[in-house]
Amino acid sequence: MLEFWGSRIVLTGARSAQSHIRRFVTKFPAKPQRHIETRKGMQFIFWISLCHLCVLCVSVVIGMHDTTTTETQRTQRLHREDFAESNKGQSITIKISSSGEVRIEAHSSTPADSWSFRNAYAGILGIAERITDFHATTASEQDAGAKKIATGEFRSELPATKISYRVDVSKPNAADVSHVSWIVGDYGLLMLGDLLPQDFASISVRFELPGMWGVAGPNQVDANLYQVLAPEKAIFLVGRSFYKTNQAVDEVTTVIGGKWPFKERDAVGAATRVMKSYLELTRSRLPGGAVIIIVPLPVRVGETKWRAETRGSTVVLLIDPDADFKNWVGQLGVIFTHELLHLWVPNGLRLEGDYDWFFEGFTLYTALQTALKLKIISFNEYLNTLARVYDSYLSHPDDLSLIEASERRWTTPGSLVYDKGMLVAFLYDLKIRKESGGKTTLADRYRELFGGPVAANTSGNEAIIALLDSPPAMNGFARSHVESKAKLELEQVLPSYGLTLDSSGKQSELRVNPSLNAEQKKLLRSLGYRK
Ligand SMILES: [Zn+2]
Repeated sequence: MLEFWGSRIVLTGARSAQSHIRRFVTKFPAKPQRHIETRKGMQFIFWISLCHLCVLCVSVVIGMHDTTTTETQRTQRLHREDFAESNKGQSITIKISSSGEVRIEAHSSTPADSWSFRNAYAGILGIAERITDFHATTASEQDAGAKKIATGEFRSELPATKISYRVDVSKPNAADVSHVSWIVGDYGLLMLGDLLPQDFASISVRFELPGMWGVAGPNQVDANLYQVLAPEKAIFLVGRSFYKTNQAVDEVTTVIGGKWPFKERDAVGAATRVMKSYLELTRSRLPGGAVIIIVPLPVRVGETKWRAETRGSTVVLLIDPDADFKNWVGQLGVIFTHELLHLWVPNGLRLEGDYDWFFEGFTLYTALQTALKLKIISFNEYLNTLARVYDSYLSHPDDLSLIEASERRWTTPGSLVYDKGMLVAFLYDLKIRKESGGKTTLADRYRELFGGPVAANTSGNEAIIALLDSPPAMNGFARSHVESKAKLELEQVLPSYGLTLDSSGKQSELRVNPSLNAEQKKLLRSLGYRK
């Protein structure tokens, strides 16, 4: 998510509590890599971003992309057949003027007299206030007498087959820029979830763009025409010029707009490495591929210079091109380790309910482990990050279970879902590695999650807890840590794994105990410790 809806996490050495929009951030020196850019210095500072604002859509991935594989062509044909069957004649035209004004016309073969637009999303309220100049027209081209009865709610006197309206997408702000549509300058992100009435499904979307502008997104039919089965999850990039490439790895299309201090192909390489790693982790292909969009942030934001969102099969990353990243490709890699995992968890699962403690907290930990495995960070950075997360955890009251914290994620301050969820994942990984002599890890549960009997449309909390607790040695671990309000006391728990946590100073320090027994050494080596 990385934070992906949202802003980021953030912050540096100071561990002051922040609003639920900005959280803690972690800063650590990047491990030197074989890349020339990185070799220049060991002191590069990374922001590991823990996606706090990342809002995710739990549901079916719908993307289709340009690739040449037979499998994809077959998938596309099937999607088109599904589409033709389910499309009830709804077609949308999105007209963008050279000044960035957006006018939408929607035609439907089924008459309607009521339309409702999404007004809240990811804690952002009043989205539908941007809709004005709403008109409805009957099949015989009569004015249907449409009226606004409340924010985002429109009714007409006569049944109508056409509606048209304007959407003001010209004023994104730091809090909503990754969650709602905007057009500023040469680029724009259009999210159908806030541009179309909520009951629209299976639509064709045609874009009418200013000269020299193009559009990129999933499910392309021809240059400016797209077929969309689930509009609420569809995101399009519009703008003046893009770098676009299709990767063989799980059919990922990367679209990059704007000028950057990194080479586009290096960003694509970073994404490809992470995608490969998650294909191995889950052993599950994304059914319709994925789209990664990188575009300049159109507004000034705070200290964390990027925002991200993963919705459906699309990952959007908004970055300030002037951000002071010493190692841009490494920073992108860190962001990708979190956001790209969301394409699978939760977006590739069909589980219900608020199990954010898993799809955010466990995702943070798995992303950290992946960054370590891919040598984006060192083992010390891995430990330092966990120590910072523990400090963040201690800085807020922990008086909720993880299930309660997940239910209240958008309405309570603090970042319990992220911090405690991540630390519980760490403890789970330590315990299962210890019990199995390093043979079994948390990663094995991800394989089972995608390859095993986890049923669709069941409770995410029940399904994930049962999965995590399935090995006899872990029986009851997840249930007790997720359902109880007991506080974590890492100082007490970690020594048996060969780790010591000193929280007496300004910042906690997590270190490997200098005198490890053979079992502890084996365990820590399996985690990535190399001494
Ligand atoms: Zn996230």
